[in-house]
Amino acid sequence: MVAKGDMFYTWAADADVLKKGECGGAITALQQYALKSGMVDAVLAVRKGADLYDAVPTVITNPAEIAETAGSLHCGTLLLSKLVKDYLDNNRTAKLGVTVKGCDTMGLIELAKRNAVDMDRLLLLGVNCGGSVSPVLARKMIREKFEVDPDAVHKEEIDKGQFIIEYEGGHKGIKIDDLEDEGYGRRSNCRRCLYKVPRQADLACGNWGVIGEKAGNATFVEVCSEKGAKLLDAAAKAGAVATEPANPKGIEIRGKVEGAMLNLGNKWRKKDFEALASDLWGTIGRETGRCIKCYSCIENCPVCFPVADELKGNSRMVTSGEVPPNPMFHLRRFAHISDSCINCGQCEELCPMDIPLALFSHAVRTEGDTTFEPKLGKAPYTN
Ligand code: FAD
Ligand code: SF4
Ligand code: SF4
Ligand code: SF4
Repeated sequence: MVAKGDMFYTWAADADVLKKGECGGAITALQQYALKSGMVDAVLAVRKGADLYDAVPTVITNPAEIAETAGSLHCGTLLLSKLVKDYLDNNRTAKLGVTVKGCDTMGLIELAKRNAVDMDRLLLLGVNCGGSVSPVLARKMIREKFEVDPDAVHKEEIDKGQFIIEYEGGHKGIKIDDLEDEGYGRRSNCRRCLYKVPRQADLACGNWGVIGEKAGNATFVEVCSEKGAKLLDAAAKAGAVATEPANPKGIEIRGKVEGAMLNLGNKWRKKDFEALASDLWGTIGRETGRCIKCYSCIENCPVCFPVADELKGNSRMVTSGEVPPNPMFHLRRFAHISDSCINCGQCEELCPMDIPLALFSHAVRTEGDTTFEPKLGKAPYTN
């Protein structure tokens, strides 16, 4: 029997899924099994669209189509929590299996705290996440730093601290640290992110800690809930996936890598927040002075949007039609988000004026989290 806390190397039994998967296709095979066995009615996952810079969220009800979503898209900067909410709202009794990064999980937990999603209707297959790269910056980085045509790249991956591309005629890797020193690499919110192993999901899956002959061909799966244990147990018994206990040395290595990533995240927090604190109001005033009031930051925030109309509307402090808006437009939003910003980066990523919005709200929330309860992603919700 599989139990919460167990750790396995897992891979798909089906040869096609094994080949298409990022690290042996365990997630794809588990999603397929969950759908076939009726544990869920649909699966929400991400597939490649026009190219590898185009990550497309997809709801699938036919198990035969799930293999199309195999593989990791590191330029997939999307957040799935609002899509999950929409699906659950529109399919009142249905259960949904979702592949989630740490930020997707955090977004769902914040929505659950507000009774906006029912976690009992979700099966969350978490992926460890070292970070994602904005598609626009990725294309620029590949052209300028790798000196390769971004359209010639057919595979990208982040491995052993390098961003690696495969393209017609070769492959190249450059250290992420070097790229980030020059303003390329992961999104700034991802650098500050501390949700590297999504233990609030039902399973936490990744390549860290897979060593020996299974490296690259199996996923390290940490079982994080009873629901996750039930899925893995049933899928293994049905022959959908194969498992073996994780190598103890691999477990140790995974722990060290996670620890190093958390240290790095804390270093970025210190650096970004200290720089901001040296001229907080000046920076906010200057940066938000470019705002064209498109409302994208409000509409795409996983926790802001329930009060979107209130924030957009005319008020005594904000005048309709005024561009750039009075800084109060932004301060009201920061105040609203101050108890729940999950640092997902959507506001910043989708701001047409490149205003570093996530930095502002994340700085406020991080300060609050040191003092107040409940902590982000923690009680009252537990899996
Ligand atoms: P597959 O069977 O190939 O399934 C992959 C699943 O991920 C599919 O459901 C697919 O739809 C989904 N997916 C792909 N791209 C995205 C996306 N951008 N957002 C949400 N879902 C997506 N593992 C580590 O151990 N360390 C890391 O630093 C790390 N960084 C990652 C960063 C990103 C952006 C992603 C998406 C994954 C990362 N992983 C990391 C996880 C790793 O790449 C594999 O996904 C994991 O090992 C599972 O492999 P698999 O073969 O079982 O997955
Ligand atoms: Fe991954 Fe965290 Fe960035 Fe989300 S915010 S994409 S979990 S690093
Ligand atoms: Fe202003 Fe950017 Fe928000 Fe649009 S997304 S309202 S431009 S801050
Ligand atoms: Fe995500 Fe920005 Fe909302 Fe924070 S304020 S939760 S970073 S969209």
